Amino acid sequence: MSQQIYIDGAWVSREDAKVSIFDHGLLYGDGVFDSVRSYDGRLFKLDEHVNRLYLSAKGIGLDIGIPKAKFTEQVIESIRRNNLRDAYVRLVVTRGPGDLGIDPRKCTKSTIIILADKITIYPEETYKRGLRVIIASTRRTPPDSLNGKIKSLNYLNNIIAKLEHIHTGMDESLMLNHEGYLVEGTVENIFLVKGKKLLTPPCHIGALEGITRQTTIDLAPSVGLSAEEALLTANDLYTADECFLTGTGAELVPVVQVDGRAIGDGKPGPVTQKMLAAYREYTKQVGIPI
Ligand code: PMP
Repeated sequence: MSQQIYIDGAWVSREDAKVSIFDHGLLYGDGVFDSVRSYDGRLFKLDEHVNRLYLSAKGIGLDIGIPKAKFTEQVIESIRRNNLRDAYVRLVVTRGPGDLGIDPRKCTKSTIIILADKITIYPEETYKRGLRVIIASTRRTPPDSLNGKIKSLNYLNNIIAKLEHIHTGMDESLMLNHEGYLVEGTVENIFLVKGKKLLTPPCHIGALEGITRQTTIDLAPSVGLSAEEALLTANDLYTADECFLTGTGAELVPVVQVDGRAIGDGKPGPVTQKMLAAYREYTKQVGIPI
């Protein structure tokens, strides 16, 4: 059976999954999204992802149009219908179709899309080798322009930073804010390791409130580490013992080189490996059964 996709209350096949060319999600990136993952038939941090989607929508004054509980049910249904156990589900809500102006008042009904697919993450080799990254010259959008806590459909800032690492043959870009503080990767949060301490930038400087980031902070004490927020510079990165990125898709992925300089001894470090193991163990224990 072809992939079943939820669009505006109906389940349609991949071939029939279409939206209007007047949708402001397409015309202006006016909308929000989130991604949630299931591990062996259990949805990991589902409520957190749906809550963040609703907060993102509220942040841009977008009425999703259905209650959170109904949305949550449809996310679960998307995995059931597609007979998946390990899935990556994309939740998208756009402002909906309007006219050719940007006025959101012309969009009378949001568009809701729920798309469950197989998960494609970094190959296991990447976790053994680690990522080589650059610090992008493209700065992260300032929170007073578009708050990083809003997971909007407007990812051009991150995509332009991504082009930079693609052009230099590296694996990922790290982004600074307009004051030169380290914010995050293009689609992951960042942690530095100093001794037994994990340090991550505070989200108010422009980063997304990552759910994997929060899980990492929560799990740190269980493996003898402490985690705290700190303003971090490029120099903190160059002199860190270890560095890793966190995200729903990536989980915890080591960073071993930045701008051609080795971080620590240039190999995935023991703290990162310990945290990744703790995270993977945790994903097996929790989650809402499908
Ligand atoms: N920052 C950005 C910009 C992202 O797009 C993502 C992916 N959602 C993250 C961080 C990581 O967030 P999470 O752990 O919730 O996937």
